[in-house]
Amino acid sequence: MPAIWDLPDFDSHEAVHVFDDRITGLRAVIAVHSTHLGPAAGGTRFWHYADSQSAITDALRLSRGMSYKNAMAGLRAGGGKAVILANPQRTKPQDMLEAFARAVDSLGGKYITAQDVGISEADMVAVSKITPHVAGLPHQGGDPGPYTARGVYLGVQAAAKHALGTDDLMGVHVAIQGVGSVGGGLARYLAGQGARLTLADVDADHAAALAAELGGQSVAAGSIMDVEADIFSPCALGAILTEASVAALKVKAVAGGANNQLATGPEGQMLADRGILYAPDYVINAGGIINVLRQIDDADDGEINRRIDAIPMRLSEIWLESGSSRLTPAQVADNMAQKLIGRG
Ligand code: NAD
Repeated sequence: MPAIWDLPDFDSHEAVHVFDDRITGLRAVIAVHSTHLGPAAGGTRFWHYADSQSAITDALRLSRGMSYKNAMAGLRAGGGKAVILANPQRTKPQDMLEAFARAVDSLGGKYITAQDVGISEADMVAVSKITPHVAGLPHQGGDPGPYTARGVYLGVQAAAKHALGTDDLMGVHVAIQGVGSVGGGLARYLAGQGARLTLADVDADHAAALAAELGGQSVAAGSIMDVEADIFSPCALGAILTEASVAALKVKAVAGGANNQLATGPEGQMLADRGILYAPDYVINAGGIINVLRQIDDADDGEINRRIDAIPMRLSEIWLESGSSRLTPAQVADNMAQKLIGRG
């Protein structure tokens, strides 16, 4: 295995901490990408990795993503991420979680943790009994989904303005992939503005029921990216924008809440070449993290709303700069984020 410095995802991370607790079996990595803007904040992932290098790579990649996301959301937080290496059965004994909490605590607040894949609300409550460096607990704001949905809605509105030249969503056709917490919330906001909706979910009954309730239509999950619409809104899985799927899109803009939408990166250029406006995922979907990190500077509900309201302005800034440069919106966003964390 190469040294951490030589891994392709190493990006001058400030620190990469590796924990190994023989008694409880805890094996974890906490990557601190940047504390330039504040404590490195990002969730804890509990996952069974093929090998330890994959776990370190995930922590490196995800912590850099959190630096960018938190910076572009205007938060006084840097970027970090923890991964706990699960066994194949994914058993999660309480004493192992407690050892993880002590690991977080040993960093003295340089890293603030939160829920992520494989970690429940109850797990984080248990962690918070040992270390105060935990965000997004039930009494601190709760489910991020509705906040993310509102930010994505405002981003879709901004995309309609930029790509279609309209301030009015009445009749604007939005195809939504995944109508769970974020996509379902988005659909309700859009329906309230008279948008025309096409919905899809692997839970086809759920998509059909929501479409019937909101006056839209539903299609099979496998055909949502073939729908001719004004805006495609991915709100389910990552990596859905591939060379083939971008070539087949029949929309003027892509603006949705899913994380890591560009499968490998160059798809951003393919979208631009096809004249399809792209809303960088970590900018448009920041509503949830804005709420989760409210305790960092004691932001009240009014301040949380103001920060979410700033998402369309940030997107417009990105699109304007992209329009006047040869860079794609994704590249412009990355450059802006790097400057904000002092690495421009
Ligand atoms: P969710 O689990 O509530 O909803 C996801 C929905 O997508 C489910 O209804 C699921 O059935 C559906 N789905 C899964 N695969 C699909 C497919 N191939 N085609 C169509 N539908 C499919 O999750 P969520 O919280 O709404 O998150 C959605 C996306 O947004 C995820 O990528 C998540 O990482 C991202 N995101 C969520 C938040 C948040 O606050 N919840 C914040 C930032 C980013």
